Amino acid sequence: MERLNRVNLIFLGPPGAGKGTQAERLARRWHLKKISTGDILREAVRNNTPLGQKAREYMERGDLVPDEVMLGLIREVLRELPEGGFILDGFPRTLEQARGLDRLLQELNLQLHAVVLFEVPDEEIVRRLSARRVCPKCGATYNLITDPPKNDERCDRCGEPLVLRDDDHPDTVRHRLEVYHRQTEPLIEYYRRRDLLRTISGVGTPEEVETRLLQALQDGHSH
Ligand code: AMP
Repeated sequence: MERLNRVNLIFLGPPGAGKGTQAERLARRWHLKKISTGDILREAVRNNTPLGQKAREYMERGDLVPDEVMLGLIREVLRELPEGGFILDGFPRTLEQARGLDRLLQELNLQLHAVVLFEVPDEEIVRRLSARRVCPKCGATYNLITDPPKNDERCDRCGEPLVLRDDDHPDTVRHRLEVYHRQTEPLIEYYRRRDLLRTISGVGTPEEVETRLLQALQDGHSH
């Protein structure tokens, strides 16, 4: 597999579509920096930083953290970017964020290579997220059905008992899906018009999805 140079990607899709899992795999494969705003925010909440205090109540409800907070955060992250490309996992999530990101990329002289949309039906999302478990200490993610830990419900890395993310309870998941459809889906058209969108199915094993992802990224055409 040919390694692309300085690839800057956005992973778009509903919560639980596998963006994070695929971002991690691709980041390792192509030596990209994975920037997951959800992970950054959860760590800020855990450490009770000013950012965490601003974000916590929104996250608990399954609502989006305000755009100006997110744009401030992403500005800091992109400014300190090491050499090499990046994958944005979970950002942008609103048109306002997408426009702010465009301005920021221009300012920093960075270019987007592609936006990958992971499509997964809502029922499958609810099913997946109720089986998702996370380590409250290191943030590692598991799925009791598709990617279970070695020792029952304990983290493979640090041995902590795994927990259901607060926002993975079924009612909150349904709310997050509504938020996705209402606030984030307009981005599909935004990036399609700019010929950046590559759509793949996020259904199947992580290996199957990864194969589709690599193919979509090598295929010069947008869909
Ligand atoms: P995630 O792990 O990507 O599902 O993110 C978890 C939660 O963090 C979301 O439900 C939001 O409350 C918040 N969050 C993450 N990324 C963003 C973003 N780009 N804009 C607004 N809120 C976000």
